[in-house]
Amino acid sequence: MQQHGDQYIGGEWVVSLGTDTIPVLNPATEEVIASVPAGTAEDVDAAVNAARAAARAWGATTPAERLEPLTRLRDGLAARQQEIAATVVAELGCPIGFATTVQAALPLGVASSYLSILAGYEFTEQVGNSTVYAEPAGVVAAITPWNYPLHQVVAKVVPALAAGCTVVLKPAEDTPLVARLFARIVHEAGFPAGVFNLVTGVGTVAGAALAAHPEIDLVSFTGSTAVGARIAGIAGGGIKRVALELGGKSANVVLPGADLARAVNVNVGNVFANSGQTCTAWTRLLVHQDQYEEAVAIAAKAAAKYVPGDPTSPETRLGPLVNAKQRDRVRGYIETAVAEGARVVAGGPEAPEGLATGFYVRPTVLADVTPDATVAQEEIFGPVLSILSYRDEAHALEIANGTAYGLAGGVWAADNETAVAFARGMDTGQIDINGGRFNPLAPFGGYKQSGVGRELGRHGLEEFLQPKSLQF
Ligand code: NAD
Repeated sequence: MQQHGDQYIGGEWVVSLGTDTIPVLNPATEEVIASVPAGTAEDVDAAVNAARAAARAWGATTPAERLEPLTRLRDGLAARQQEIAATVVAELGCPIGFATTVQAALPLGVASSYLSILAGYEFTEQVGNSTVYAEPAGVVAAITPWNYPLHQVVAKVVPALAAGCTVVLKPAEDTPLVARLFARIVHEAGFPAGVFNLVTGVGTVAGAALAAHPEIDLVSFTGSTAVGARIAGIAGGGIKRVALELGGKSANVVLPGADLARAVNVNVGNVFANSGQTCTAWTRLLVHQDQYEEAVAIAAKAAAKYVPGDPTSPETRLGPLVNAKQRDRVRGYIETAVAEGARVVAGGPEAPEGLATGFYVRPTVLADVTPDATVAQEEIFGPVLSILSYRDEAHALEIANGTAYGLAGGVWAADNETAVAFARGMDTGQIDINGGRFNPLAPFGGYKQSGVGRELGRHGLEEFLQPKSLQF
C-alpha cells in the first residue's frame, strides 16, 4: 500500500500540515490500496497563497508562452495513457476497456483541443471606440468528483491555465490517485511554481476552505446539486464567480417512426457505461405507448449482455460502483421503485451472483415507471434504466422537461428535422439527435438545477476569462 503524505503546492511536493489521512479503496476488491492526506485549511491556505503569488506573472504571459508547457502537459498525458487507465481501474473500479478508451483518452483529447483553441483565440477585440481585452479570471478553485476523475480535472485545469489563470485543485476523496498522477505530469511539463496546486482532502474541510478562501476569484465545481448549491452560497458571499456542473436525470425520447431497436440498444449501453455513474446518462427512456412493450423487451435483452465482473479483465463491460455507500444507495432506489409499482424486467436490488466482494449492483431495467416516481425524478448514479410511456409528443415533452434537471438527452425520430423540432423544446444543455456522437468541442453544461456555465471547447475557455475595455 502506498502511503502519500504530501500535497503539490508552489511547484513542489510538500508535507501536509495535517495528520489525518484518507484511505483509497479498490471498489472491486474492497482492499485499501493507498492513503492520501486529508488536507487542512492550512494546506489550502498555502496552496491558494502560492497560486495568488504566481497569478500576475502567469496572467501576463502571451498565449504562445502558455502553449509551450501546455503542449508538454498534453504530451505527458499521451505518454502516460496506460498508467492513467490502470489508476482509474484501481480507484474507481472502471472496466479497463472503458478506462482506456474514455477515462484516459478523453482528457487527452480535451487537452489537445485547447492547444488549437488557445492558438486561434482572439484575446483582443475592437468594439466601437473601445479595445476589449479578454483577461484571466484570476485564481481558480477547481473541485471535482470521482466518476470521470481525470476528465473533470482536465476540463477545468487546462482551459484555466490556457486562459492565464492559476489553479488550486481539490479532487474527490474516492479518486485522488489519478489527480496526483496529473500533478506529476503538470510538474514535468515545467509550469512556473504556483501556477497549479493540488490539495487532497475531505469536501467539508478542504473543499469548503477552498471555496470560501478570500484569495479565490472563481470556483469551478463539478458534483452533486446539493453541494453545488452550498458552494454557490459560499462563493456568492465572497462575490466570486462560480461555474457549476451538477446532476442530471436525462431523457432519451424515441418518437414514432424512429429506429426503435437502435434507440433502445444505444440507451442501454449509455446508461450502463461507467456503471451508470455518468451525470449525462439517459436514465429515462421515453417510448410511445403503442411501442412500449416492444421497447421493454429489447431493453431487457440488451441488459442481459451486461454481466458485472472484474474491471481488470478486458471482457468486463460493467464494474462495481465506487464505494459501499453508493452501492447501497442505488440498491435502495431499486427497492423504492418496486415499492412504488415499477416492474423489474432485468436486474434487481439483490447482490449479483458470484460476487461476494466488491461494490456491485445488478444492471437493472425498470418498466411501468410513472413520471412522478422517485426513480424518474431523482438522480440514482448507478446502472438503472427507467422506461416510461407517453401518449403523444406534447406528453413526451412534458415528461422530458418534468424534472429539476436539464443536463443532457437524446431524441430519435424518422428524420433529423422532426427530432430537432422536438429537441428545441427540451430544457436541456446537450442533446444527441438520432445517436449523434459526443463532441468534446461542443459546450457542455446544464439548464435548471444541472448547473451554471459551460465547459469544453471555446465556451470552456471563456469561463476563465473576464473582459476589460479601454476607451479611446
Ligand atoms: P459531491 O458533490 O459529493 O462531491 C464533489 C466534490 O465536492 C468532491 O471533491 C467533494 O469532496 C467536494 N465537496 C463535498 N462537500 C463539499 C463542501 N461542503 N464544500 C466544498 N466541496 C465539497 O459529488 P460526488 O459524489 O463526488 O459526485 C457525484 C455527483 O456529481 C452526481 O450528482 C453527478 O451527477 C455529479 N456530476 C456532475 C457532472 C457534470 O458535469 N454535470 C459530472 C460528474 C458528476
